[in-house]
Amino acid sequence: MEGLTRDDVLKALSLVTVNEKEFLGRWVFINNASVFEGLVAVMLTQNTSDKVATRVYERLKERLGLITPNAILSLSRGELENILRPIGSFRQRAGRLIELATVVNERYGGSLEFIRGMNTDEAKRILMSLPGVGPKTADVVLLNLGKPVFPVDTHIMRISHRLGVVGSYEKVSAFWIKLLKPSEYLMVHLGLIAFGRAICRSRKPLCGNCPLRVKCKYYISTNQQHN
Ligand code: SF4
Repeated sequence: MEGLTRDDVLKALSLVTVNEKEFLGRWVFINNASVFEGLVAVMLTQNTSDKVATRVYERLKERLGLITPNAILSLSRGELENILRPIGSFRQRAGRLIELATVVNERYGGSLEFIRGMNTDEAKRILMSLPGVGPKTADVVLLNLGKPVFPVDTHIMRISHRLGVVGSYEKVSAFWIKLLKPSEYLMVHLGLIAFGRAICRSRKPLCGNCPLRVKCKYYISTNQQHN
């Protein structure tokens, strides 16, 4: 989007507070999760709120202690489904976790720690070759491992579209990568999600207080309709 600056974005994000506890993917990595465990946590957040995913993650953690491929494979399919029950499509997702654990065991001896030392492209290629891992899930893991990527979740996609940044996941992610400094990717990623939850909400966004409104296509077009 033309005209939107990094300063505009940082100013808008100063309206929200990021509580890292409210982002499961971030929280597990802060607490020294292995790459595999972090990946499982991020997969739990797919199409699921962080709140529900966190509850399920805690149930899994309580039952298994360390979340490893072997620990997941030690559960019966029925028990795993039961733990995942609060999230949508829990049967299918239990199957995917079993598949993931099996593949990580077979291909990589049960550990994904080697990914930490890889370059970003190679690490992303490996993550995306795993069952149930798409670009967003891979990017969230990579960002938490300190790689220069910008994951685009549903909130960030909506905000971007409203601002006039349209296109594929890759295109929207590339926009933010170019606009920001790599050291800002993580906090702006979390900040935009918090901003999408509190202000640029899916229904009835709170445009009145939003510093981005003078440059926001959605706001401008909605306002013109009212004039
Ligand atoms: S002006 Fe409204 S729609 Fe545009 S970014 Fe701000 S809150 Fe979202």
